[in-house]
Amino acid sequence: MAMARVTGDALTLCSVCNRRHTNLTRLLGASAPDDWLAVSNGERLEAELTPDVCILPDSGLIRHFIRGHLQLAVDDMELSPFVWSIWVEVSEDSMRVIAQHWSDPNRAATRPLEGVLANELPYSEPTKGLPVEVHTRDMGQAPLIMLSRGSTHGLAIEQRDGITVHRVAELGELLQR
Ligand SMILES: [Zn+2]
Repeated sequence: MAMARVTGDALTLCSVCNRRHTNLTRLLGASAPDDWLAVSNGERLEAELTPDVCILPDSGLIRHFIRGHLQLAVDDMELSPFVWSIWVEVSEDSMRVIAQHWSDPNRAATRPLEGVLANELPYSEPTKGLPVEVHTRDMGQAPLIMLSRGSTHGLAIEQRDGITVHRVAELGELLQR
């Protein structure tokens, strides 16, 4: 997947490897849902992809996606949070709710919407298809993506418990390969 990058430096030595990590990636993002690449060129001609929303005809159905931020707290205040900027597939009804409230100054009060992750991330278990809640935030901010706190998936555990600076460095390296 195509990546956007925002970087920063750790201020202190790493508690895991005792090095000072620099040029750490603080935000990694996918420019489209993974299935964007799977549809035919003909279908993609009728599709719509903006930085925030994707409408994708797929085998006679219309699929709806929204980009959000899945945040992981980091044990260094300067580098927290680490952000996965990724896509969530939502129902047509949910997309209608999102569209209705898009320019609403009070849109952060919109009820959370259900969806499933639409990108594969570098974890030992698949992330595409994981159920999530999408929480709309104020204008100018991407919605927050929340995994179930009870989930035993590695990504859900990292969202619940947070990650170390060392892990931030590791994630950046995983995706540079
Ligand atoms: Zn380290």
